Amino acid sequence: MQKGALLYEGKAKQVFATDDPALLVQRFKDDATAFDGAKKSSITDKGIVNNAISSHMLALLEKGGVRTHFVEQLNDREMLIKALDMILVEVVMRNVAAGSICKRYGIEEGITFDEPILELYYKSDPHHDPLMNAEHVAAFSLCSAEQLQEIGNTARRVNELMKEFFHSIGITLVDFKLEFGLAGGLIHLGDEISPDTCRLWDLKTGKKLDKDRFRFDLGDVEGAYQEMLGRVMAASDGA
Ligand code: UDP
Repeated sequence: MQKGALLYEGKAKQVFATDDPALLVQRFKDDATAFDGAKKSSITDKGIVNNAISSHMLALLEKGGVRTHFVEQLNDREMLIKALDMILVEVVMRNVAAGSICKRYGIEEGITFDEPILELYYKSDPHHDPLMNAEHVAAFSLCSAEQLQEIGNTARRVNELMKEFFHSIGITLVDFKLEFGLAGGLIHLGDEISPDTCRLWDLKTGKKLDKDRFRFDLGDVEGAYQEMLGRVMAASDGA
């Protein structure tokens, strides 16, 4: 496999072509942004941590029967992925109240929901990823009703598999964001699963081990990412 041209550069990742049009290389950067790009910096070795954790999580989900874009981890910052036609819907799953749901509805951080809450957001930077529902998805022709149903079912399955895994390494999975796309006409889970896209709290102390340390200047940002890497890798060594 030969790595080709840079096709896309986002806030935290780059995507490169390969000599196979069905495959791409996803490269993780150390750049970090928050609050719609208003806050910008870099987190030393974040790209290495996020590539390793994402590779582990996507492989774990594949094993659990979830179709993902993950093919293999190539090196410390890159993974080989299937090319997807992305669906412009971001799915957030919430087990515990934190972040925007607290602000939007005035609820206290840390409340555990009886049932996980699934939210849909329109993936559109210029419009600041607004919250939407299934009717918006249909009206804007973002995907079919059947595809949205499958996306929802997959997100719930992903939540169960991830909650169990993170619990086994002493972490509460508070919430996370997923993105989906199509390859060969089939829905695949894409993007990444990392401390950038999940809220992860230590089960015993409640310490935040995710991007909120960067967002809210909580200190020890690199330490938190390294702590998550250590726990995930220890689990994979034992697997
Ligand atoms: N999230 C993400 N990308 C986004 C928005 C949210 O990865 O563009 C993740 C975020 O890290 C958290 C979850 O989705 O784990 C829920 O985020 P929330 O809606 O609370 O928004 P935030 O507080 O991050 O603005």
